[in-house]
Amino acid sequence: MRIRVVGAGTMGRGIAQWAVTAGHTVELADARPEAVADAVSFVRAMLERAVEKGRTSRAAADRAVAALVALDSPYDSASDPAADGDAPELVIEAVLEDLEVKAELFTGLERVLPDSTVFATNTSSLSVTRIGARLADPGRLAGLHFFNPVPLMKLVEVVPGAATREGVPEMLAALVADSGHRPVTVADTPGFLVNHAGRGLVTEAFALLEESVAGHAAIDRIARDVLGLRMGPFELMDLTGLDVTASVMDTVWDGFRHADRLRPSYLPANRVAAGRYGRKSLRGFYAYGEGEAGPSLPEPRVEGGDPARAVRVTGAELAELASAAASPDDALVLVPTWGTSVATAIAESGLPAERTLGVDPLSLGTPRRVLAVTAATREDAVRDAVAVLARGGHAVSVVRDTAGSVAQRLLASIVNVATGIAERGIAAPADIDVAVTLGLGYPRGPLAWADTVGGARMCSLLRALHTETGDPRYRPTPWLTHRASLGLPLSTPMPPLPE
Ligand code: NAD
Repeated sequence: MRIRVVGAGTMGRGIAQWAVTAGHTVELADARPEAVADAVSFVRAMLERAVEKGRTSRAAADRAVAALVALDSPYDSASDPAADGDAPELVIEAVLEDLEVKAELFTGLERVLPDSTVFATNTSSLSVTRIGARLADPGRLAGLHFFNPVPLMKLVEVVPGAATREGVPEMLAALVADSGHRPVTVADTPGFLVNHAGRGLVTEAFALLEESVAGHAAIDRIARDVLGLRMGPFELMDLTGLDVTASVMDTVWDGFRHADRLRPSYLPANRVAAGRYGRKSLRGFYAYGEGEAGPSLPEPRVEGGDPARAVRVTGAELAELASAAASPDDALVLVPTWGTSVATAIAESGLPAERTLGVDPLSLGTPRRVLAVTAATREDAVRDAVAVLARGGHAVSVVRDTAGSVAQRLLASIVNVATGIAERGIAAPADIDVAVTLGLGYPRGPLAWADTVGGARMCSLLRALHTETGDPRYRPTPWLTHRASLGLPLSTPMPPLPE
C-alpha cells in the first residue's frame, strides 16, 4: 500500500519505520522540511542497526529504505514521480495534538487527494468524531492510535468515529494485522482503550498516597512483587512524565463526566507546577542523574524482631503463619484483610488492639508479604510480626491500616475500571485483555487476572471496600457483580439482543 505519513516527529518516524519494514511505500511529510530529513536518517539508522543485530537482511533493509519517499509538502498531490505519481491510499497524521491543526491538515488534504484516500489520525486524546466533523466527507476518517516506540509496541487502536464509513475501520485493522501489529477496535471515547484502562492503577496509587497508607517507593515494591507488575505506578509515571499522566487522568475523568472510578488526586498538580515530571527533568518521585539510585532505592528494614513469637490467626488463609503450640496471652494476632481494615476487625471481634496486625492474603505465595499496622499497634508487635512474616526469606512491607491493602486496592481498581470499559461496550472483553498486556505491559489482562483471583472473590473485595469506605469509587460494576453471581468468567461478552 502507498501510505502518506504527515508529521515526522517521534510517532511519525516510528510509523514510517514500521510501515516500510512491512513492505509498504511511505511518503513522509512535515511542516518543517528538516524534520523529514531527520526522520529519514533515523529510519535508515534503525534499519542499519537491525541488519547489524541480524534481525533483518541487508536486502530487506535496502528495500525498506528505498520505499521511503521524502515529500516537500504534506499537500503534494502528485506524489513521487518515480512511482508513477500514484496517490496515497491512506494518510496517517501524527502532527501536533491540536484539533485545529489536525482539522486544517485534513481539510487541506481533502482538496488535493482523491476521494478514495482514507484518512487516519494518531491522536491520543482528541475526539476522532470531532476531527472528522470538519471534513466535507467525515466518512473517510478514523483513528489509528499507535504507541511509542511504534516498531516495538505491537498494539494499535482502531477508532471509528461516529460518521466513519463502514469498511474503513475494517480496512485499517486488516492493514495493521497484515503488517505484524495487533489491532483492537475501540469506540471513540476519552482515552480510547489503553489510556482509559491505565487509569485504574495510577489513580488508586495516588489515592493510597493521599491517605498516607504507604510511601511511593513502598507502593511500587508491592506493585512489583505482589502483583507482578514490571514497574510500580510511581516508577511508571516518572518514565511517562507526570505532566503527561496528569493530563490523561484529567482528560479521561472530565470526558466520562467525573465518573468516581476515574477520579484523579489533587496531588499531581503542584508536582507538575514544580517541574517534578520524572526522568526527563531528573526529579520526580525518584531522583535521577549521576549518583542517584532512581527507583532502585535501598529498602528500609525493621530489625530485631523475634521470629519465634507465638502467633494466632483469625482466618484459614493465614494458617501457614500460625504457631502450632497453644497461644499464650501475649500472642500476636494476625487478621487477613480482604477489603476490610484491621481496625474494624479489632472492634468487631474484640481483638487485642496493641498486638493485632493485618496481613494481605494476596501477598501470601508471592516474594513479598504485606503487614498492616494500626495507630494502636505496639512497636514490639510490629518488629516481631515482621520477623515472623520474613521467615522463609520473604521480603516484608509494613503499611498503615486501610480498607483492603495496597495490592488489593490497586488490583480492585484495575479490574473495576476494565469491567467499566467492557460494560460500556468500548471494546470487546478479549481485546481489553490483549490491549492491556500489549499496551501497558501488565502480566495479565485485567479480566483474566480477576478470573485467576476468582470473580466472586473480586466482587466481595470491591463490595467490602465500598462498604468500609463509603466511596462510590469502589462500587463494583454490574458487569462484575452479574458475572460473579452467574459463576461466569469476567471475559464473558454481553449477550446479543434481538434487533
Ligand atoms: P512530535 O512533536 O514529536 O512530532 C510532531 C511533528 O508534527 C513535528 O515534527 C512537527 O513539525 C509536525 N507538525 C506540526 N504541525 C504540523 C502540520 N500542521 N503539518 C505538518 N507537520 C506538522 O509529536 P509526537 O509525539 O510524534 O506526537 C504526534 C501525535 O501523535 C500527537 O497527536 C500525539 O498526541 C500522538 N501520539 C503521541 C504518542 C507519544 O508517545 N509521543 C503516542 C501516541 C500518540
